[in-house]
Amino acid sequence: MTSHERQAGAGAALDMNRCLNHTHPHPSPPLVSSLPLVPFLVHPTAPRITHNNHSMAREQSHGTFDMVVLGSGGGPLETDLSGYLVKPTAARWEDGMLGLEGGSGIGSLTALLQRQTAAELFPDLAFPSTHTTPVLQAAFVFSLLSCYLITHAHLDHCSSLILLSGSIPPRPSSDPLTHPPLEVPRLPVYATRKTLERLAMAYGGELWPELGTWALDRGGRQGVVGEEMVRRGSATGDADQLGSGGGTGVVFTPIPVAEDYIPLHPTLPITTRKFHVLHGCTSKGVYESSAIFFRYQRRGAAGSSSQSGREFLFFGDVESDWRRQGEGGVDREGQVQARGYNGVVWHHAARVWDEDRLAGVFIECSYDSERPAHLMFGHLCPQALYHELERLASMVTRRPGRKPLQGLRVFVTHIKDSLVPHPTGTTARERIMSELRVLEQQRGVGVVFVEVRRGDRIVI
Ligand SMILES: [Zn+2]
Ligand SMILES: [Zn+2]
Repeated sequence: MTSHERQAGAGAALDMNRCLNHTHPHPSPPLVSSLPLVPFLVHPTAPRITHNNHSMAREQSHGTFDMVVLGSGGGPLETDLSGYLVKPTAARWEDGMLGLEGGSGIGSLTALLQRQTAAELFPDLAFPSTHTTPVLQAAFVFSLLSCYLITHAHLDHCSSLILLSGSIPPRPSSDPLTHPPLEVPRLPVYATRKTLERLAMAYGGELWPELGTWALDRGGRQGVVGEEMVRRGSATGDADQLGSGGGTGVVFTPIPVAEDYIPLHPTLPITTRKFHVLHGCTSKGVYESSAIFFRYQRRGAAGSSSQSGREFLFFGDVESDWRRQGEGGVDREGQVQARGYNGVVWHHAARVWDEDRLAGVFIECSYDSERPAHLMFGHLCPQALYHELERLASMVTRRPGRKPLQGLRVFVTHIKDSLVPHPTGTTARERIMSELRVLEQQRGVGVVFVEVRRGDRIVI
């Protein structure tokens, strides 16, 4: 355990106090803040690196990971929730893929395939001749899914996953006359134990059928819900509803917050290292989310050796210790804890960056900078995000003649669409991306902001 981790662990002991304090009245600023805003540009001028642009992505064909964005928003639009399909560039989609977050899924892909061709989104994937409609093509893609990984259990990160779990499509047979099996192996869902316990609540038989079961984690324990399901299933003899083997559905598979990288899934040459971060709180305590490093780990002679070891950092929803001047007293304990948890992540990211292995950072920016701190609900605004990047910049080794994070691509996710018109006529996306680019122009750590949009194909 590093000193950073001890600091974060000590912060966790404050959980309940913090949330009880949260119910006390805060000296809150008015909803429409009179504080100065970072000016925005209606038409962002920074170059887009990837957006529905196959040829552009190909120019960067030396990437390490391929990603298709099924949804990148943070709600409230159910048509654009967090959901990403990921594979190493050196591998084929047919070899397996990761479902990173499960807010948007097969429905979103079906809708995308009604406006984009399958070849645009998956240029190297050969679709079976039998799969001619968007829904069948989307089903084929999802039949190649190896596993899901979610950062936390909020619905905008798992609703599609839940809906799919009774209908996971089988891989088509190579013989068109052979019917695929009616049952397919259960799909692993990786997350921290706490997140999976929250997700499992949806599978209690009332919100959704009992389609979840538990894998043994490294400590040999099963989850509480899993044990209950096994007992109940044993009594009724309904083998399809339980157990780690048969039936359709998902397997809750805890992954630890480890001090080293651990392999993700046998079909994927990817290892991960997971960190806790904070994401607001409930009446029960702070709410946990995750920041995860995904490293391409070349196997044998396959793949490009120059790309092996490269990785990207993906944040789930996350809060910052940044507070606007005059809002410093808002949720003081949350501020201290967020600083501790995020510091651990940035400390590790700085090491990866110094070793020239950090291919990009995906991080949320839910609201624009007009949003007051007490209404952030455990999310970032542009100034908080930039503050976090400056923390990373302060930890990396300085190189002569270069900005500290020169060229680091920061992929901006989880923008919440506004449902009321803004006086300037701009969208939340336009304001957030403009504010971020202005902050970079003014303070210059060297990053390149990339807006992540539904339907993007990104080479990282
Ligand atoms: Zn979210
Ligand atoms: Zn969330």
